[in-house]
Amino acid sequence: MKIAVINSGSSSLKFKLFDVQRMQLLLDETVDHIGEQNSSVHNHHEAIESLHVNFNEIDAVGHRVVHGGERFVDSVFIDDAVIEAIADLIPLAPLHNGANLEGIKVVRQYAPNIPQIAVFDTAFHATLKKEAFLYALPYEMYEKYQIRRYGFHGTSHAYLLQKAAAMLGKNVQDTNIITLHLGNGASACAIKKGKSIDTSMGFTPLEGLVMGTRCGDIDPAIVLYMQKVLHVSATEADEILNKKSGLLGLCGDNDVRNIEQRSDESGKLALDIMLRRIQKYIGAYMVLLEDVDAIVFSGGIGENSQRVREAVMNNKILKKIKSLVIKTDEELQIVNECLEVLKR
Ligand code: ADP
Repeated sequence: MKIAVINSGSSSLKFKLFDVQRMQLLLDETVDHIGEQNSSVHNHHEAIESLHVNFNEIDAVGHRVVHGGERFVDSVFIDDAVIEAIADLIPLAPLHNGANLEGIKVVRQYAPNIPQIAVFDTAFHATLKKEAFLYALPYEMYEKYQIRRYGFHGTSHAYLLQKAAAMLGKNVQDTNIITLHLGNGASACAIKKGKSIDTSMGFTPLEGLVMGTRCGDIDPAIVLYMQKVLHVSATEADEILNKKSGLLGLCGDNDVRNIEQRSDESGKLALDIMLRRIQKYIGAYMVLLEDVDAIVFSGGIGENSQRVREAVMNNKILKKIKSLVIKTDEELQIVNECLEVLKR
């Protein structure tokens, strides 16, 4: 059996093909610069056509979909109603859901008989209770406009949970861990008895930890000040918070490898601010979880930077807790999700 995983972005399409029986990666192709000036690939349809794969050999396609809103609490077969629902969620994730949907539609056109499955980045956090997912805003903001925390990176946190439980020799439903996905985007998740009970990303992937170019938690009044006093437009504010902040904003670089080599004050300070934020979330999640079997480090930074891991754990309270390093594999998790859906 062969399952393909597609991560369709606005200008790129990542494609991986797995042989399920052998759990082997057969093909790994990325088409970049889709629709850009001077690019030979004008749209997602051409991107699919350019892949070196025979779609007749594929048994199912799993798509990464960033936002599942409140409707999708699990992976699903894609039909017309699902497509419509993903389209309805575009305002909640304008950069992502539209592009994800484009990938789905193109595969549907190109290979209409292959079952397609949507795997949502928010779904793992569908177990958050109201006290975790509501902001202290007027309640109608939630009821009328669905403004709440959703959480992201769910596919990664779910994968890390499975792996960590196996490493700890525990059943998933008995596992209490804090997972840290520390990549260019970064999020923490408190997992109690195998379920996400809290996570650092919120209404969008901007909230929470200090990231490569995203600020994470800030006083929301700063945005109002930027707009009212500094006359920064909403579009510019979006750009500043998402693309010009985080490590990049603090020290001019968002690659932790480079920053670790530096000896200047601003590089060290940027890392210290990032580390302190991680520790604050761990502290909060330890209180929520009460029992913590392990803290799991993952993502490019968590997997590779021993210095970051040691700095986070170098604390009287945290020293008593086991830490694990797990290489995340979102595509493999999507394949596993597809297999679950195909069994239904
Ligand atoms: P993305 O969120 O884009 O998938 P990754 O999970 O690949 O990102 O993580 C990217 C981050 O991982 C970068 O900040 C990079 O500096 C960091 N990283 C990768 N390798 C190392 C390393 N050996 N030491 C420290 N940081 C690393």
